[in-house]
Amino acid sequence: MDDSQQLIAALPVPVVLIGRDERVAAANAPAVALLGADPTGRHHGLTLRQPALLEAIGRAMQPGAPTVEVRHVIPGPSSEVVHRVTVTPVPQGVVCTFLDLSEQEQIGQMRRDFVANVSHELRTPLTALLGFIETLRGPAREDAAARDRFLGIMAREAERMNRLVRDLLQLSRVEAQERVRPTEPIDLAAALRASVLALRPMAEEQGVSIEVAGADHPLEVPADPDQITQVLNNLIENAVKYGGAGGRVLATLGRGQGPRGSMAKIEVRDFGEGIDQIHLGRLTERFYRVDGHRSREKGGTGLGLAIVKHIVNRHRGRLTIESRPGQGSTFTILLPES
Ligand code: ADP
Repeated sequence: MDDSQQLIAALPVPVVLIGRDERVAAANAPAVALLGADPTGRHHGLTLRQPALLEAIGRAMQPGAPTVEVRHVIPGPSSEVVHRVTVTPVPQGVVCTFLDLSEQEQIGQMRRDFVANVSHELRTPLTALLGFIETLRGPAREDAAARDRFLGIMAREAERMNRLVRDLLQLSRVEAQERVRPTEPIDLAAALRASVLALRPMAEEQGVSIEVAGADHPLEVPADPDQITQVLNNLIENAVKYGGAGGRVLATLGRGQGPRGSMAKIEVRDFGEGIDQIHLGRLTERFYRVDGHRSREKGGTGLGLAIVKHIVNRHRGRLTIESRPGQGSTFTILLPES
């Protein structure tokens, strides 16, 4: 290896040096991985095929040429890989440095999707509210019965917006704290018993019984008590809401094997209709619902499981979802005990 090859080999991003003879003089390991084969010794046009990049290299070979940047896109099976290539003239020829923009572009896309989703979720109840206000001011002005009915619907829609804003704030708070792992020990058994006690009336109203197992003895883990309560409430509420057809929900506390040896395990199981396999991987995405209409009807925001996932991440735990259509679903959480 000559000096420039050694220098390029030490750089952590893909770098290709093209000599004055237009052949690749050096390419480091990240560049070989990106281009699929080692281009060293070959004409650069055989591997760097994109016209904008070839043109920039051609210009950079001219005396006194400035450094330029071009976009380089490699189509992939699921998404494209986008790089910003800096083309710099050097005495030996031209250096091309690739900076991966895929993640940045993906984050940008996610942010745009998120804003679009939030706007859509808020607009639906807002449109309903505006419509009823119009009606109450006009045609239903003197109609006491209609007024009562409309006010009931308006209150429901306003509550929906309230829940959405509450969940959005909660989500952003948990995300902001995600790097800071809680350290205070709390008793999961007590937390589980308290959650079940609070949710039982709601469940019984819908003909669902909640059974608890393994919560007689304390089981301490370092955790944020409010967030653990939120996780338990979300999972048990979902089990009642979506799996209630089975008539019962089973919440079990115990220990299980995880990536960090023995971990505390909370299982929330329902015996309802279950979830089709194709949805399982996406349930924790924001606003992902198996049946949007049904979720909204039950007052869901589509954010519950996203919040659960972030809280579990913050605790360095694991969330797994298993389900068989027709047999119900099991949501399992593993939390490190120390
Ligand atoms: P929400 O309940 O507000 O819609 P979640 O994030 O809590 O949002 O859940 C996302 C989706 O996952 C729900 O809309 C529902 O389709 C599905 N789901 C969650 N829990 C269960 C369950 N126990 N059984 C069947 N489907 C479920």
